[in-house]
Amino acid sequence: MVSEIDKLIKERGLKAGDVEYHTIRPLENGGRVRALVIKGEKNVHIEYICPQCKHAGYTTQEWKEVGKGAKFRFSFKCDKCSFEIKVSKLKGGPKEKKT
Ligand SMILES: [Zn+2]
Repeated sequence: MVSEIDKLIKERGLKAGDVEYHTIRPLENGGRVRALVIKGEKNVHIEYICPQCKHAGYTTQEWKEVGKGAKFRFSFKCDKCSFEIKVSKLKGGPKEKKT
């Protein structure tokens, strides 16, 4: 499967400095999620393998600020089975590590 996010990075010639948020997380059951926010954009690009039904999907949604006490950075639903996939914040500071 072609990575939509890789395509996006290539097409726009994005460099690390153009990226506000980028994370790749393994999920339970062999699921996976990758998310990218481009600086100046209000959307997050999400690529995932659903841990529930193994559907590989791509979606975008509004990128919202979250409060300091929030446990999760963002969540979204699988296109196919509507399973809610939640992405926790990384521990150890407000800045996400660039990958
Ligand atoms: Zn699913």
